[in-house]
Amino acid sequence: MIIAVDGTAASGKGTLAKRLAGHFNLAHLDTGALYRGVALRLLRCSEDADISPDLAASEARLLTLDDLNDPDLRLENTSAMASKVASIPAVRQALLTYQQDFAKHPPDDKDGSILDGRDIGTVILPDADIKFFCDADIEIRADRRYQELISRGESAKYADIRAGLAARDDRDKSRPIAPLKPAIDAIMINTGHMSIDQMVKQAITYIV
Ligand code: C5P
Repeated sequence: MIIAVDGTAASGKGTLAKRLAGHFNLAHLDTGALYRGVALRLLRCSEDADISPDLAASEARLLTLDDLNDPDLRLENTSAMASKVASIPAVRQALLTYQQDFAKHPPDDKDGSILDGRDIGTVILPDADIKFFCDADIEIRADRRYQELISRGESAKYADIRAGLAARDDRDKSRPIAPLKPAIDAIMINTGHMSIDQMVKQAITYIV
């Protein structure tokens, strides 16, 4: 079984994918971490605010598992840089095969795979067995992200978080290559007024 989960920033798609992976014994790939990893490498190797597409693509080809486990992956400036590098066609091309191979060759002890991101149902796995697209009002998503940061003891301003999410959504939706949008056969899940358990329960009803 191959499942694609796409959605806007902080819509709950990662949580949904993780929970479905546990429930159905699937290998899970958070594809946003790949773009964040490239962003982090770039932030560390270049002071230049203008991203060179060639440098970004070569950093994408050098990505390691260590990059994907770096604690700085979730910082706000990494998020912003990730959505900038994600609009570079050569970066997306460099990450394409890895994602498709992950989906098609899960480990023997798994019953399939689930990937979450922005273009999984449209570009990476157009033949996925099931596709979900998660979204919620931006106020709800910003508030969730704000509460998450505060509960971790980090300082955060709601207005800055909301602006950051809106900027990322705009950039992701308007880029010419692999823009964020639901696949025509995606099941839409509005996660706004649901608990995590309700969201997972609803998704499971479409799979079994
Ligand atoms: O999902 P996450 O918020 O970690 O993704 C970070 C950024 O990576 C997104 O804002 C988006 O620009 C990019 N991304 C993408 N395609 C994917 C996954 C993430 O363009 N499949």
